[in-house]
Amino acid sequence: MKLKTPKSSFSTFFDKEIDIELSRLKKENLYRLLRTIDGPQSSKVKIKGKSFILLSSNNYLGLINHPYIKRKSADALKKYGTGSGSSRLISGNTALYDKLEKKIAAFKGCESSLVFSSGYAANVGTISALADKGDIIFSDELNHASIIDGSRLSGAKIFVYPHNDIEVLERSLKKSAKYKKRLIITDSIFSMDGDLADLPEIVRIAEKYNAILMVDDAHATGVLGKKGRGSAEYFNINGKIDVYMGTLSKAIGSVGGFICGSGKLTEYLINKSRSFIYSTGLPPAALAASLAAFEIIEKDLSFKERLWENVSFLKNGLDELGYDTMNTKTQIIPVLLKSEKRTLKAMNYLYEKGIFLPGIRPPTVPQGKSRLRATVMATHSKIDLEHVLDLFRKMKRVL
Ligand code: PLP
Repeated sequence: MKLKTPKSSFSTFFDKEIDIELSRLKKENLYRLLRTIDGPQSSKVKIKGKSFILLSSNNYLGLINHPYIKRKSADALKKYGTGSGSSRLISGNTALYDKLEKKIAAFKGCESSLVFSSGYAANVGTISALADKGDIIFSDELNHASIIDGSRLSGAKIFVYPHNDIEVLERSLKKSAKYKKRLIITDSIFSMDGDLADLPEIVRIAEKYNAILMVDDAHATGVLGKKGRGSAEYFNINGKIDVYMGTLSKAIGSVGGFICGSGKLTEYLINKSRSFIYSTGLPPAALAASLAAFEIIEKDLSFKERLWENVSFLKNGLDELGYDTMNTKTQIIPVLLKSEKRTLKAMNYLYEKGIFLPGIRPPTVPQGKSRLRATVMATHSKIDLEHVLDLFRKMKRVL
């Protein structure tokens, strides 16, 4: 017998609201849908049986499918089971956490590190624990949503400075003496534009005005710097970042987020960060995968080197074709198409031809700045990337 769900007048009203909003999104080319990938994330993926070149993964070094990492992860699964069973402060703090946190702290050149269940949780839980009413946060206008959400949750005054505008940042810090604490928070690699924060200047300002500096290295860990250790290594500012955040979900190829800094900072976060305290620990297999990925990155720089060769090849090719790749300096290569309609058209054109490259539209980027956001991987072959460039050349005729 089919059961009928009784509808209250509230839910009928709610359904109508949802319908109106969804049709607005469709009309304005802002509607989103999930595409399901079958099989592992690598430079090529299968969707509904068809093969695609994947140009939108954060698996920058291609480590998700690395045999050694998979073996270490499978060993942990066998030894510890599938989950950690509770939050870390209750009984979910498996032995692998300790090893991983020591490894991350050494890799990033910090005294201590603390692993959260995601990068999102690390940012939200850390910012809201560090800042409060009476404090002020200086936040780059292109910072990631998790920084925005954490800042809002903190109750501190938020000053959003124009993207990378050091003059405005300094001028506003000068006028902020009435606040108890001052935090400057910035992405190192900006996630939608692929450009870099001017960290040496930001460090100078933070020191001059006695502000706490927090840097989100989500896209830089494993990628930037001679040994892939991130933005502090790249800019030679080791020890100058007070709160150094990163994720295990991108180049590291697993899941989780982390905060590096002093032992006092991580001790404080264990006691005060709500996203840390009130969330279940990560599965041991994920921790083991992260640990093994750091081992590989430390031993073998060839993944990073291949990534950067591919970045130059694709970026130069797109520039030569006359596409606007904005001010990117990294593996995140935006192709600015401005209108949502053009972006959707380009995305569908490429999808039909076997390239999986979703467009980025508002609210992720501002109105009129819609784009394709290509992300390069170490495992893309030259033939793959030549094929991509050939399609971009042909696409100019239809856009
Ligand atoms: N910070 C930045 C700059 C990001 O791009 C992301 C992920 O998209 C995050 C934080 C959140 O990381 P995670 O996906 O591990 O939650």
